Amino acid sequence: MGITGIIFNIKRFAIHDGPGIRTTVFLKGCPLKCPWCHNPEGIKKEPEKMYRSKNKHETIGEMISVSEVMEKIEKDTIFYDQSGGGVTISGGEPLMQPEFLESLLKECKKKEIHSALDTSGYADPELFQRFIDLTDLFLYDLKIMEDSDHIKSTGVSNHNILRNLKTLSKHKKRIFIRFPIVPGETDSEGNILKVGEFIRSLNSVEKIDLLPYHKAAVNKYIRLNKTNPIESIKPPVTKRLNQIKRKFDSLGLALYTNIGG
Ligand code: SF4
Repeated sequence: MGITGIIFNIKRFAIHDGPGIRTTVFLKGCPLKCPWCHNPEGIKKEPEKMYRSKNKHETIGEMISVSEVMEKIEKDTIFYDQSGGGVTISGGEPLMQPEFLESLLKECKKKEIHSALDTSGYADPELFQRFIDLTDLFLYDLKIMEDSDHIKSTGVSNHNILRNLKTLSKHKKRIFIRFPIVPGETDSEGNILKVGEFIRSLNSVEKIDLLPYHKAAVNKYIRLNKTNPIESIKPPVTKRLNQIKRKFDSLGLALYTNIGG
């Protein structure tokens, strides 16, 4: 069977996970616990039950080999070529399954399929280093700059996240930043300013997506028997999103910044 990993979805014809038409592979397992997570079924590494009703459930998460994933990916090569698309590896946090991820990226390279890695950047810098040359584009989350606030919200320090992002910038790797706008969590004036200034200090950021928190995952939490810790929080209003966009514009980031993915 070769190298295997645990995934919870493969989405064909994705158009919000990087340029062009893409196939997005979702790897299960994430060391962070962001209360706004839109993929709560991706946090636990092991397969788990998702209920349809009191007695009916489906199992989320399956073990799959690299060659099986590649077989699915290669079905749509023609669309990648025509649209400038490729493969996006997402999660969860793909870096949680480094051997599987490395093997997938190597196969994509061998087959000349463009690869994007959608990551929180939370990984030991030595491990992270292994993926720099293998990946064409990084979709990199930047959430909270103050470390104590980052720990409070996500359960982990942002130290390596920021360090790994700086390393990508030094290597002039293509980077799309994803900044989730979550009222009361990431949208303070101080955090917005620090995020913007940090991005400005980087070399190779091509795009900044301001991603408004939304409620689409509420039902998933219920079906997983999990409590959504910020269930009462309302998504940000358009006026606030525009204010944040203007703040980024005023930092010289207007050319790169978009609201939404
Ligand atoms: S890093 Fe992403 S996948 Fe992990 S908990 Fe946070 S939002 Fe969810």
